[in-house]
Amino acid sequence: MSKINHHLTDALMMAYSAGTLPEGFNLVVATHISLCDECRARMHEFDAIGGAVVDEEAPVAMGADSFAATLELIAKDDAPKHEATPKRSGIFPAPLQDYVGGDLSSVKWRKVGGGVRQAILHTDKSASVRLLHIPAGAAVPDHGHRGTELTLVLQGAFKDETDRFATGDIEVATQDLQHQPIAEMGEDCICLAATDAPLRFSSWVPRIAQPFLRI
Ligand code: ZN
Ligand code: ZN
Repeated sequence: MSKINHHLTDALMMAYSAGTLPEGFNLVVATHISLCDECRARMHEFDAIGGAVVDEEAPVAMGADSFAATLELIAKDDAPKHEATPKRSGIFPAPLQDYVGGDLSSVKWRKVGGGVRQAILHTDKSASVRLLHIPAGAAVPDHGHRGTELTLVLQGAFKDETDRFATGDIEVATQDLQHQPIAEMGEDCICLAATDAPLRFSSWVPRIAQPFLRI
């Protein structure tokens, strides 16, 4: 895989480490981490900080050397919680294969218009998560966001008003972003996308279809 240029934000890492993200966001974060050495290493640090905070809250008299002792405990606790995915058999990393129950061939796609297909994955209702298949050169309708949208590229690449996102990259879109992702020529683009609020479409055609497509 080419170098990953777009990573998780600190806020997402912290919330993932603390276990406060919606299930759909957890899946996207876990899938990025299994592809990205950099974020996996940073997540170890967030986990260590979180663990130290919990330790400090324990009702134990803290001696002068308790901070050093805590650091020692952190150093000892080097069992990796976030393993690298051993060897990918297809394009889906392990956390995603577990959800889908297989690789690309087991996905049941549904058309959403413009050649774009999606497959909604079943998670709790706090966020909605889907696989998107965008044919090379095709566009997702122009839209804004009412909440947060995480888009992780699993194959190919897309461009929007902000930048280019290739395999392994994650785009974190918030309410101030209006964009139209367009798949690059040459290869169909497959993404894993999660949203915690409905999108805001600029044209009325996707707006009418929105309730049926659950986007
Ligand atoms: Zn990363
Ligand atoms: Zn978006």
